[in-house]
Formats: sequence, C-alpha cells, structure tokens
Amino acid sequence: LPPPLYIITPTYRRPEQLAELTRLGYTLKHVVNLLWLVIEDANKTNPLVGHTLDRIGVPYEYMVAPMPEKYKQTKKAKPRGVSNRNRGLEYLRQHATEGVLYFADDDNTYDISIFEQMRYISKVAMWPVGLVTKTGVSSPIIQEGKLVGYYDGWIGGRKYPVDMAGFAVSVKFLKERPNAQMPFKPGYEEDGFLRSLAPLADAEIELLADDCRDILTWHTQTKKNAPGQPLNRTRYKNTNLE
Ligand code: UDP
Ligand code: MN
Repeated sequence: LPPPLYIITPTYRRPEQLAELTRLGYTLKHVVNLLWLVIEDANKTNPLVGHTLDRIGVPYEYMVAPMPEKYKQTKKAKPRGVSNRNRGLEYLRQHATEGVLYFADDDNTYDISIFEQMRYISKVAMWPVGLVTKTGVSSPIIQEGKLVGYYDGWIGGRKYPVDMAGFAVSVKFLKERPNAQMPFKPGYEEDGFLRSLAPLADAEIELLADDCRDILTWHTQTKKNAPGQPLNRTRYKNTNLE
C-alpha cells in the first residue's frame, strides 16, 4: 500500500451540509489508503451525517469539536473550522505514525491527482488554489524552480499567505512538533498553523502541481440559503415527509 492520507474535513450543520459531504465523499472514494476525518462543529454527532458517510463508503472517523462559545457569540469574523481541525491534529498525534495530512473543507473542489502527489511528501508541500474571487488564484511564486514569494488577494502581513486548500503536511513532521496547532485567529489560520511547524526553511517546502503551474484544488463557495421551513404536520400525515 502507498503511504496513508489523512483528510481532515471540518463541517457544520446548514441546509447544504449533506450535499457538500456527498460531493466531497465521492471525490475521496477515488483515492486508496485514505482515512477521512470528518469533524463537526457541534456538541453531538448527527445521525444524518453518519448515515451519509456510511452510504458513501469511504473509511471515516466522525467526531465533534464545537467552536468555543466566546467565538460563537462575536459579531466579528469567526475562526471557522479551527476547533475541528485541531481535533483532527489531536487524532493524528494519537493514532497516526506515517503518511500525510490535508485539510479539505467540505465545500471546496479537489482534483484527485493532488492526493497522489501529496502522498509522498516528507515535510510540507504547497501548490496553487483556484479562487472564485476576482483575484483568481492563490499561489506560491516560483522562479527558476525556487519558492520566492506568494500571490494572493490579501497578504495581511502573513509569512505564509496561502489558502487552506493549498498545502499538506507529513504526519511524522507534525508529530516532531508537539505544539503545532491552528490559532483561533480569523484570516491567520493557515499562517499560524504553518508558523507553528517551525523550523521549516523555505527551501524545504515541496512544490507540487508541476512546480505550481497547475490548479488542482479550488476554494469554492456555496450560496448561503435560509433554513428550511418546518413542515405542516397535519397536512402531511402518514407520508414520506413526516
Ligand atoms: N465551518 C465550521 N463551523 C462554522 C463555519 C464553518 O466548522 O461555524 C467549517 C466549514 O464546514 C468549512 C470550514 O469550516 O469546512 C471553513 O468554513 P467556510 O467554508 O464557511 O469558510 P470560507 O471558505 O468561506 O472561508
Ligand atoms: Mn469554504
């Protein structure tokens, strides 16, 4: 078997949740030796999510990791998916010894060839991410085969101005850094996590997707919808809608 892949997917309850998980799950079904860590921002698991994961048939662990109350309450930007991803890292520290981890948000789009490329990395790898904003792409900038900087619509003083969908990390490399984790800092999640993997020299960052010329992952977004209305249970008695 090739080295295992650990795909950490934060998710949360909303009208499109099961659709997003279904689409992502059937993408992951094309990839061998993969464990899908689906981690919901909730206090308890949802049987509908469990049934959806069972039906897809990709090996998975389904866990919960709620966002701390103080962040939920705020009117400012929230650290979306951070407790979920840190829970995934904790799982890997306990259960994984080799292979590679990747943070795959439930609403993004993935070409499966990136999974076969990231599987063999030894430290940290990066590659371009297609964006649906006018910036178009977030990418390492490569000159004569070397990483010389980053292109993104927003740099924000970050050392690593990269998208969540644009990097992967070796499990061994992570485990040699017991304090590595993702900060609850909106906009700086990727940067904070990658900084926490120090020491990491730029020259050690592996460049995938044909030296960052291909786009194999996209940061897509699904239109937000209002929650469904409760059914009129008198009208739909003894039907499938009950
Ligand atoms: N997410 C979460 N809790 C939230 C909001 C988002 O767990 O309250 C998850 C979501 O399912 C996704 C990731 O965190 O996998 C990033 O969230 P989102 O896609 O909303 O962020 P964006 O892509 O718009 O930056
Ligand atoms: Mn998203």
